[in-house]
Amino acid sequence: MYPRKPFDLSAYVHRIQTAPCFICEIAAGARDHHMVYEDERAIAFLNQYPTLMGYTLVAPRDHREHATGDFSLDDYLALQRVIYRVGEAIRRTVPTERLYVLSLGSQQGNAHVHWHLAPLPPGVPFDRQQLAALMFEHGGILDIPAADMAALAARIRENMV
Ligand SMILES: [Zn+2]
Repeated sequence: MYPRKPFDLSAYVHRIQTAPCFICEIAAGARDHHMVYEDERAIAFLNQYPTLMGYTLVAPRDHREHATGDFSLDDYLALQRVIYRVGEAIRRTVPTERLYVLSLGSQQGNAHVHWHLAPLPPGVPFDRQQLAALMFEHGGILDIPAADMAALAARIRENMV
């Protein structure tokens, strides 16, 4: 278990509304991140602000914004295959009572569409599950050292089939 550290939500909101697209930067290899999986169309990497252990984001390499509208059916289904495989690898890596899979984002920040794969560990009280488990407002983020994040990404990667 890792302690939590406070999260500066207003600085984060300012950053995502003013900085270049962070997912495009990761896809281009221009930004530090813990990659879990990549192929010619998709990337998966650990959430750098994890509220849950093993919290991973999956995104198309290309800058697309609309979860269904910017994809052909085949491209969408290809991405969902990656989401399934990464999700199963996460379940093999960390104790997971439920795996949450959802796409959020905003045209006003974090516009590059991505899917959150967030494993809820066993034993979380009901009122701290679901969206509450993902929110920075409930105790901040897990303070996971970079070396441990790298090891976690490697374990998820190894558990992909
Ligand atoms: Zn982008």
